[in-house]
Parts: sequence; C-alpha cells; structure tokens
Amino acid sequence: MKKIHILAVGGTIASVSSDPLSCTNYKTVLNGEEVLATLGREKLSGIADVTVEDIIRLDSASLTVGNWLTLAKRVSEVLESCDGVVITHGTDTMEETAYFLNLCVKSAKPVVLTGSMRPASAISSDAALNLYNAIVAAASDKLHNCGVMIAMNGVISAARDARKIHPTRPDAFTPVEMGCIATVTDSVVELFYRSAKRHTIGSEFDCRNYETLPEVRVLYAYADAPADWFDQCAAKNVSGIVIAGVGNGNLSSAWKRKVEELKGRITIVRCTRTNGFVNFNGSQDDDALGTVCGGNLSGQKARILLMFALAAKLPLAEIRRVFEQY
Ligand code: ASP
Repeated sequence: MKKIHILAVGGTIASVSSDPLSCTNYKTVLNGEEVLATLGREKLSGIADVTVEDIIRLDSASLTVGNWLTLAKRVSEVLESCDGVVITHGTDTMEETAYFLNLCVKSAKPVVLTGSMRPASAISSDAALNLYNAIVAAASDKLHNCGVMIAMNGVISAARDARKIHPTRPDAFTPVEMGCIATVTDSVVELFYRSAKRHTIGSEFDCRNYETLPEVRVLYAYADAPADWFDQCAAKNVSGIVIAGVGNGNLSSAWKRKVEELKGRITIVRCTRTNGFVNFNGSQDDDALGTVCGGNLSGQKARILLMFALAAKLPLAEIRRVFEQY
C-alpha cells in the first residue's frame, strides 16, 4: 500500500460556514484530521495509508515566502519516508505555492496540492472529492516525475501551467493554453503529457539551501499607470521587478524610461497581464533595455523564478537562460 502524507495549510477546504448555502462566508477552523474526516478514512482503503500533519493554517492570501520555505523543507523531508505528498491549501495563491515547490523540492515523487472552492459545510461542496482525487494522484505511479501538480475538479495541472481564473466556481483552475497533464475519474488516473520544462529533481534550485530569498515585486501595467512605483522599488532596495505588462509585455514610454534608469541595478522581467507567450527582443528590445523575457509565466510565477535566480546570484545571461528552461 502506498504511504501518502497530507500537509494541511488551511484555505476553504479547512473552513466551515454555519449556513450550508454560503460558499464564501466561512471560517478556517479545521485541522488536517478534520479535513480528512470530511472525506472519511474508510474511502481510502485499498488506495493509500494516509498520515496527516498540520503545518500552517492560513487563508492563502496571507502566506509568506517564509511559509513557502518552511513548507518546501518539510515536503522534502517527508518525501524521504513516504510515496507522495498531498497539500491541502487555499486556492487563492495555490498556483504560487505549487510553482515554488516545483522549483525547489528535489524529488520525483508526486506532490499534489488541492483545495476547495466551497467549504465542506456547503451543499455540493467540492472539498471531499478534490481531496480524494489528490490522494489518488499522489499514490499513482503514472505521476512520477511530473513535477508538482494541482488537483482540482478532476483535472491535474502542472504547477507551472495552473491558474485560478474564477473567484468562486468549482472549475476555477485551468492550465490556460497549456492543457491539463492528467485527469482523475472514479479513482483512475489518466496521464496525457509531461512538461518539457525543468522542475523538482531536474531543478538547479534546492529549498534546503535558503533561509530567505531576495525581494521581488510585481508591477501591474495599465493605461496611465504611475511610473513612481519604480522609484519606490529602488528606494526599498528590492532586488527584482516583474512587470505584468500590457499585450506582448509592452511598456508605456514613462515605464520604459524607468526601466532604462534602473538597468544594471535592479533585474527586471517583462511578462504579460494577458495569457500567453512574451517573446525575447519582440515588441521590446530586451538587449537594449537589459530586461529578461518572462515567456508565458504569469507575473506572480515569474516573481518566484526570479527570486531563486537572484538567490543563486546568477548574471543576466544566466537569468535569461533560467527563464527559457523553467
Ligand atoms: N480565500 C481562500 C484561500 O485562498 C480561498 C480558497 O481556499 O478557496 O485561502
């Protein structure tokens, strides 16, 4: 029997409401055992031997980089003595935690994050089935070396691709343009693809090497967005800036002047606030600006990759290489 360890991190899946008709007004009060009880251990007979540990209990909007490092180190440790890990987690920043772990946990064993869009107390809650599917996925031999995954609503997405695109619906997660890597239906895992991008066992980053990571901020572009945000970043000595730019990672003339001013001082990555691939030296001259191109990483994920690249003290050319490979 596979040994699966659950690490409980809070979120809606650990929440209850006094009103079964409310999916959004709840309190995050359940510990890991209570979360598992909403499914019932008996449903797992023949699937996995499950152990549960409470590690952090927060709404995922309040998680910090320090929490991510604590979680990553614990995941690395427990994977030495179990076959897979499930992390129950709030959905709001689940894709960020998943990508963080994807970059720095050195194991080919499945690590699967799940949560719920409706608390267990709600009618038609997705909590129990999402947890069940995540355990089935973590126990599946098919999902070795797929990197960290998110299991929600029967769909398994790679951490790099998953995005929350809706605030309340059970189908809130989608791999956007990349396609799901697998599905779980009636306890059966069907694997379709493995990501060609580097992750986990193939990553050059290891959470065990870091106590903190350099600060990187994301600036979200819009028409007439203030340029003094860049000055604030410089005054705070942030190490990196990710621009969630308009269109193909495009910059207003005021933002471009600031990027030129900060060249060589703060590493700046150009992403897009849309969904898709921003190309190097495309509509902006990255060579001249000294910028890194974020490809199709969202701003929030590019921030995480840049934190690791800066922690490793990589020069600009190597940071550009990292953004092509991960
Ligand atoms: N606010 C919650 C969280 O991210 C939402 C959820 O879990 O669905 O923790």
